[in-house]
Amino acid sequence: MNASSGEPPSLVTAASPVESLYAHVPFCAKKCSYCAFYSEADGGGLVDRYVDALIREFEIVAEGMRPRTLFFGGGTPSLLSMRQWETILNAMRRLNLTGAAEWTVESNPATVSFDKARLLRDAGVNRMSMGAQSFHPGLLARLGRVHSRDMIFKSYDILRAAGIENVSIDLMFAIPGQTMEMWRQTLAEAIALGCEHLSCYELIYEEDTPFFERLQVGRSLINEDLACAMYEELLASATAAGFAQYEVANFARIRSGETGEIPQLACSHNVNYWRGGWYHGLGPSAAAYVHGARSKNQSNTVAYCESLERGERAFEYIEELPPLRRAGELAAFGLRMAAGWPLELFKRRTGFDLTQEWSAEIERLSALGYASLEPDRFRLTQKGLRFADWAAELFLR
Ligand code: SF4
Repeated sequence: MNASSGEPPSLVTAASPVESLYAHVPFCAKKCSYCAFYSEADGGGLVDRYVDALIREFEIVAEGMRPRTLFFGGGTPSLLSMRQWETILNAMRRLNLTGAAEWTVESNPATVSFDKARLLRDAGVNRMSMGAQSFHPGLLARLGRVHSRDMIFKSYDILRAAGIENVSIDLMFAIPGQTMEMWRQTLAEAIALGCEHLSCYELIYEEDTPFFERLQVGRSLINEDLACAMYEELLASATAAGFAQYEVANFARIRSGETGEIPQLACSHNVNYWRGGWYHGLGPSAAAYVHGARSKNQSNTVAYCESLERGERAFEYIEELPPLRRAGELAAFGLRMAAGWPLELFKRRTGFDLTQEWSAEIERLSALGYASLEPDRFRLTQKGLRFADWAAELFLR
C-alpha cells in the first residue's frame, strides 16, 4: 500500500515503543487571570486522592515502558507536598519508570523549596521549567500570578543549589499594559539569570478567563503591531545572547561547538510531540498519542479519580484518525519547528509525500516568503514562523 495509490498507508512506526510520558498535575495555588489550562485552585483533600489515581494510571501503562522523556506539567506540579512527591516517586521506582534521559517538572516560583527540588533531583529530575511570565511587579499582579519578582530570583537560586543543571524560564509578551521597555527588561533579566532555555508566549485571550471578559467589555485592547515588535525583540535578544530558536516559542542556549538541526538543550519531550512520536498522557485532561490512537482524559479530577478507582482509564475520548488527516496534523505540528520537516522522516512517520500531497500549500507559502523547500526538507522561514498557526492550518485535511 502507498499514499500515492490512494490506499491508506500504514504507519511504519506503529510498533515502536512509547518512550515519552506526560503527567498532568491539575492543581494551582490560585488561578491566573489568563489561564485556560485545566487546573483547580485549592485542591484540598482531593490532592491525595489524585495522587493515588495517578499511580494507578502509571501501573496501567508501565508494562514494558522505559521512558526516554518524562514531563510533569500542569497546573503546578511543584505545589505537591514532599510526602505526595515521595509517594509518586516511590511508585515510579517500583514500576521502573525513572531513569529518563530528560525528566522535566514545571514549577511556580512561589512553591519551590530546596528540599523538594533536591528530592526531585535525587529521583532523576534533571530539568525544571519555571513559570516566571514577567519580572515586572505590576504585570505579575495584573496576570494574577501568586509569586513576586523576588521569588523568581530566589527560586532560581534554589533550583541551582539543589543541582538542577537545566532550567527553562517561561515568559509572556503582549500583556495588557506591557510596554516595549518592560518586555526588554524582562528578557534581559531572564537571560542574565543564565538559564538554558526560554519559552516565550504571546498572551492569548482564551474564552472563560477574566482576561477574555475584559476584552469583551472593551477594558483591554489588542495592539497587533506592538505584539509583532515584541516578537522581533525576542528573536534579536535571544539570538544575541546565544540562544537558538528551534520552535515558534522555544529557544535553547547553544553549547560551544554544537552543530545539528535541533539544539542539544531543546526540550526533547516537546520535540517528540512536534515530530509525531508516541506519548502517554496521564492525569486529568492529559492528551496521548499511542500506536496511532489519540486520546484525552476527562477534564474533571473527581471523575478521573472515580474511573481509576474502578480500575479503568479515564478517557474522555479515544480515536484513530484517517491516515491523511493524521498526516496533515503532523505536517502542521512539525512546521512549528525551525528545522521544519525532513522530507524522508515525514514519509517514514506518515506514509505520505509532503511535497506531492501539499504541493499547492508549499508553493503558496514559498511565494509569500513564509517557507522554503530545500532538497531534504520543508520549513517555515523566520518570517513564516511568526504566522505558524495560520500556515499550519493550511495543511489540515
Ligand atoms: S500557575 Fe500556570 S496552570 Fe496554574 S493558573 Fe497560572 S498559568 Fe494556569
